[in-house]
Amino acid sequence: MHSELPAVPGTRMPEHRVAISERGSFCYATCDCGWYSPARRSRDLTRREADEHLTANASDPG
Ligand SMILES: [Zn+2]
Repeated sequence: MHSELPAVPGTRMPEHRVAISERGSFCYATCDCGWYSPARRSRDLTRREADEHLTANASDPG
């Protein structure tokens, strides 16, 4: 048996999985739910927006 999903404590996001993509000097975040962030020059900002998206859509606070 093997598990496909890595067990990361505190980062259980079943429905929302965000990926950071880069395009030229810009980067943006896309989510499995269809959400995507605007293209940013700052990857740090993109990661923050992605994090905010996950936080805003997390139904279970625990
Ligand atoms: Zn999402």
